[in-house]
Amino acid sequence: MGEIWVVGQVRDGELAPVSYEAFTAAKELAEKTGGSLSALVVGHGAAQLATGFLLRGATRVYVGEVASPHFCDDQFAAILTAAVAEHKPRAVIGAATVYGKALFARTAALSGCGLLPDVTSIEVEGEHIVARRPCFGGNVLRRLAARGGDTVLLTIRPKVWPPAAEGGSGGEIVELQVAGAGQATITESISEKGQTVNLNEADVVVAGGRGLREADHFKLIFELANTVGGAVGASRAVVDAGWIEYKHQVGQTGKTVNPKLYFAIGISGAIQHLVGMQSSGVIVAVNKDPDAPIFKVSTFGIVADLFEITPALTRVFGERLGR
Ligand SMILES: Cc1cc2nc3c(=O)[nH]c(=O)nc-3n(C[C@H](O)[C@H](O)[C@H](O)COP(=O)(O)OP(=O)(O)OC[C@H]3O[C@@H](n4cnc5c(N)ncnc54)[C@H](O)[C@@H]3O)c2cc1C
Repeated sequence: MGEIWVVGQVRDGELAPVSYEAFTAAKELAEKTGGSLSALVVGHGAAQLATGFLLRGATRVYVGEVASPHFCDDQFAAILTAAVAEHKPRAVIGAATVYGKALFARTAALSGCGLLPDVTSIEVEGEHIVARRPCFGGNVLRRLAARGGDTVLLTIRPKVWPPAAEGGSGGEIVELQVAGAGQATITESISEKGQTVNLNEADVVVAGGRGLREADHFKLIFELANTVGGAVGASRAVVDAGWIEYKHQVGQTGKTVNPKLYFAIGISGAIQHLVGMQSSGVIVAVNKDPDAPIFKVSTFGIVADLFEITPALTRVFGERLGR
């Protein structure tokens, strides 16, 4: 079998940590197929960023040096598509983040290669690469294989594979042709104001729901999240009510998260919320209704008034963590 590629996600001039999770998945697949493990980095300063993959044991890193510091899915997908057509890797793996979803969907459309999105396991069955992807909140596991093209594209769900540690020795760098790729140009990127921990990548998520009663009370959720170093999540009810922005919404029409620890505070546990968070490692639910459906998926259920429990959790975690 041919090469297995991992695609680095460049953010703020660095490789996003999730790139090293994708590296672990790619390494695992390379071991199963007997193929060699290579990486691809497209962006401003790509050659320097390639070091991160070389230090983890990539035998080759393809670099596409572009002048602009901004991620441009149109341009990057054109570069990746051309690289796939020229080098014909067996598989290309990236992370199922906003970046990876935009890049891989475009590349699949441009290249005609099959895309297995948001997967949590990858196997080799005979000639085929077969992946699994949880659906309906983890109640159903879909088994996916690609048709069409020599190369299979995959995006992995963040927080499933551990990030690869350094420990390899340097391989070679191969420069890609980037001139004339894509038609769009990004002239400016504006970071979201007040952005704290990224919800998709967070190890801890503290989410609040309609039990908070009003927008101002969301500060209880932010205080606990800041204390434990977590990201803030929300149910759709509070997003629809305008208490918090949509980017915080977890669930069917929001984000799917997979943290080690998820706090659901004043959230009833409607199925549309559960599908976005029930694969979390440990779920702590606070709800005054002992029959709330959230308790069916929670590891620890606290039947109590959130206005007493949330500040107490913040205080105790603050003391234990020295914050
Ligand atoms: C097509 C579709 C898509 C949807 N997508 C999503 C989605 O992506 N994400 C999502 O979250 N929802 C989604 N929903 C909405 C979903 O069905 C629920 O309406 C929503 O999740 C309810 O939000 P909630 O739990 O905050 O509110 P509620 O259901 O009103 O629950 C509030 C909870 O707070 C508890 N509570 C009240 N006061 C206190 C207190 N003082 N202390 C402790 N507990 C208290 C109550 O017992 C209750 O359980 C979708 C719905 C549809 C139809």
